[in-house]
Amino acid sequence: MTVMKVKVDYRKCLKAGECYYNHPTLFQRTENGLPKILAEEVTSDSQRREAEEAVEVCPAGAISLEE
Ligand code: SF4
Repeated sequence: MTVMKVKVDYRKCLKAGECYYNHPTLFQRTENGLPKILAEEVTSDSQRREAEEAVEVCPAGAISLEE
C-alpha cells in the first residue's frame, strides 16, 4: 500500500481533542491541548482507516492525509 503522511495544520486546530481522544495510537494530547502526531507515516490498513476517520471528525478540518 501507499505510505501516507498524517498532517495537522496547527493554525486551524481548535484543540477540540477528537483526534487524540478517539485515536490515541495516532495522536497524543500535549500540554497546550494541541495534538502531537505519534504515527506520522501510516503504514497499515487499520492505521489508515483510523487516520481517515480522524480527518472526517476533526471539527476544524485541520487534519489531512498526504501521499
Ligand atoms: S480534532 Fe482537529 S481541532 Fe481537535 S485537536 Fe485534533 S486537530 Fe485539533
